[in-house]
Amino acid sequence: MRIYKKKEVQESELDRVICNQCGKKLKVEDGILKEGCFSIDYTFDYFSEKDGYIYSLDLCESCFDTWTRGFKEPVRISETREFL
Ligand SMILES: [Zn+2]
Repeated sequence: MRIYKKKEVQESELDRVICNQCGKKLKVEDGILKEGCFSIDYTFDYFSEKDGYIYSLDLCESCFDTWTRGFKEPVRISETREFL
C-alpha cells in the first residue's frame, strides 16, 4: 500500500509579453500569446565575450521586420511543415 501526501503544485501562466524594442504589450489571453512574436533565449558559448550568459528577448512582428530589413544579407525564409 502506498500513501501519497499532496504536494502543492506551483503553476505559472503567461501573463504578458512586452516587445523589448518598442515596449508594445502583445495580446495574451488565458495564458496564450495571440499575436506574432520573435522570441529567443540564446546562450553565448566559450568563444564569445558573453560566455555563460543567456540573452532572452521578445520582439513584436513590426520590430522584427524593421530589424531584419536592415540586414546586409537577407534572412532565409522557408515554410514550416505542419504534422497532424
Ligand atoms: Zn516592437
